[in-house]
Amino acid sequence: MSTDAGHVLLREVWGFDSFRPGQEEIVRAVAGGRDVLAVMPTGGGKSLCYQLPALLRDGLTVVISPLIALMRDQVRALAAAGVEAGAYTSANTEEENDSLREGLREGRVRLLYLAPERLAQPGTAAALKRWGATAIAVDEAHCVAQWGHDFRPDYLRIGALREALGVPLAAFTATADEETREEIVARLFGGREPQVFLRGFDRPNIHLGFALKDQPRRQVIDYAKARKGRAGIVYCGTRNKTEVLAQALREAGLSAIPYHAGLEPDARRLAEERFQREDGLIVVATVAFGMGVDKPDIRWVLHADLPKSVESYYQEIGRAGRDGLPAEALTLYGPEDIRLRRAQIDEGGAPEDRKLADHGRLNALLGIAEATGCRRVALLGYFDEAAEPCGACDTCDRPVDVFDATLPARMVLSAAIRTGEW
Ligand code: ADP
Ligand code: MG
Ligand code: ZN
Repeated sequence: MSTDAGHVLLREVWGFDSFRPGQEEIVRAVAGGRDVLAVMPTGGGKSLCYQLPALLRDGLTVVISPLIALMRDQVRALAAAGVEAGAYTSANTEEENDSLREGLREGRVRLLYLAPERLAQPGTAAALKRWGATAIAVDEAHCVAQWGHDFRPDYLRIGALREALGVPLAAFTATADEETREEIVARLFGGREPQVFLRGFDRPNIHLGFALKDQPRRQVIDYAKARKGRAGIVYCGTRNKTEVLAQALREAGLSAIPYHAGLEPDARRLAEERFQREDGLIVVATVAFGMGVDKPDIRWVLHADLPKSVESYYQEIGRAGRDGLPAEALTLYGPEDIRLRRAQIDEGGAPEDRKLADHGRLNALLGIAEATGCRRVALLGYFDEAAEPCGACDTCDRPVDVFDATLPARMVLSAAIRTGEW
């Protein structure tokens, strides 16, 4: 591709002056028809890395994406920028489908978003071929990882689609661990090595903190109160807790709503919309809240309970500060969390080697929680990224000293972690 053409589109279609770190190389590879696996942090700007090449290439780019709301948002944004794009989802009306098919037949549509479930319908590959599909992009590619937390069985059909179409594929994810990467390569590229891009994982604008639970409810309320008027997410381990804490926050005079997978789809959508629109709303949620959230100015993420792994922690805090402005993440944890997370893994019914790996990811998170040095160095170290002490985490703010009152508690936890007795 001519980089110039890319820059012109970047300015004229997206209105951006420059690529974000890592974007340009990926855009060039994708536009050049390479198989690509791009691992980029949340908020890094992955969508552009397949949308812009779609305009640089001839023909139709098929985008597989896991969430209908996300697809519709992107199609709307592209349409607003003057790009012909469509989404084929179960939420479409017949009229929408008719006009979409017409655009496809006439070769006007440049990007076609498909829900993975669509791939199960016979004739899909043939139709895409007829419509001149020349590339496939897979968003949230970690959904193909069988033991990952976002596994989507229909993602397993993408490999066959790629073979049927015989076109290059570009896969995008924010999940970095090597195991997931290998699974993506095996399942999406049939083991053929794609060009891999691993972009830095640091989110320097997010202040990192961990604290032992002491009076958990009080800690949550105080933290949220101190940030009144700024949008935030409180992640909880259970559905019930989201309701209880949201209520407690409201009683403390804050604007807070619960969110979990047990709510009616309408209620969930309403919560997502309110969060997107309202200033300073707090969503008290389980991990069900997140993948579809694209709010750039989330100022803080508070984990009221320990996440289950470093990967989950990273993804969840990564929802804060996507606009690049200062944001904060605090994680509360205690022995009870550790015991619960261990039990969830042990009783989860996964094969033994998977359980072992999950314990490893939990332990890695505990390693960060108990770090006496810089949290960011510990976190990035997990992703094989070297870093200097950051000056923007609680341990950098207040170096842990041996007379710190919390230290005995930490030591107790550490001992328990080592012996695995929780
Ligand atoms: P990801 O999918 O990697 O989490 P998105 O594609 O949703 O990230 O992009 C995150 C935000 O960054 C969006 O608001 C997007 O418009 C913005 N963005 C992407 N690329 C650029 C760029 N080159 N310059 C400025 N903003 C950008
Ligand atoms: Mg994305
Ligand atoms: Zn630090």
